[in-house]
Amino acid sequence: MIIILFGAPGVGKGTQAVILAEKLGVAHLSTGDAFRAAIKNQTPVGVLAKEFVDAGKLVPDEIVARIVEEAMEGATFAKGCILDGFPRTRAQADALDTMLAAKGLHIDSVVNLNVDDSTIISRLLQRGRADDSEDIIRHRLDIYNHETAPLLKFYSDKGLLTSVDGIGNVEFVNERILSAIAPSGVQAHPVPDTTSDQA
Ligand code: ADP
Repeated sequence: MIIILFGAPGVGKGTQAVILAEKLGVAHLSTGDAFRAAIKNQTPVGVLAKEFVDAGKLVPDEIVARIVEEAMEGATFAKGCILDGFPRTRAQADALDTMLAAKGLHIDSVVNLNVDDSTIISRLLQRGRADDSEDIIRHRLDIYNHETAPLLKFYSDKGLLTSVDGIGNVEFVNERILSAIAPSGVQAHPVPDTTSDQA
């Protein structure tokens, strides 16, 4: 079962992906987290990605493909995965289809989290990560609107897309996501919840 959590920076993909992966008993791949870990450990991919991540730019597709391919080697991946922050370009979406097909897998559902820009900016400023200054946030939102948002039509044309409201209590948002993916036959196990509104 492959689920893509989609949405602008700050909509809460990371928070929701962690909870969903736990409830559904599947893996979680955040390309943002993978890049931050690679940068911290100064791996070859980390060294290549650093300047882009620091500037709030998209890491080039070939470098993204390397980190995703590596994650897909993991033993747990075939059982299912929540993809968070990937794909972000049409080239990445095509690469994902190819990588999944090679493993006999396919995308079950794409869930778009909707949050307005002013809420996004205040959430990200609160988070205070190194790439969360207001200028860089605006730049990331701009890139999202130009490069990533067009994928909404791509997935909607394939009949895979559902949009849910990303505002409100974390657990309520999670329930909305679970309802959105329910038609794909996904079963959740209840786990203790968290309640703050954080991206
Ligand atoms: P956010 O969604 O809040 O921007 P992420 O943690 O998902 O944060 O990503 C942080 C940074 O990592 C991005 O600004 C970008 O530089 C890089 N990155 C993550 N995923 C991708 C991707 N799929 N393609 C290109 N760059 C990416």
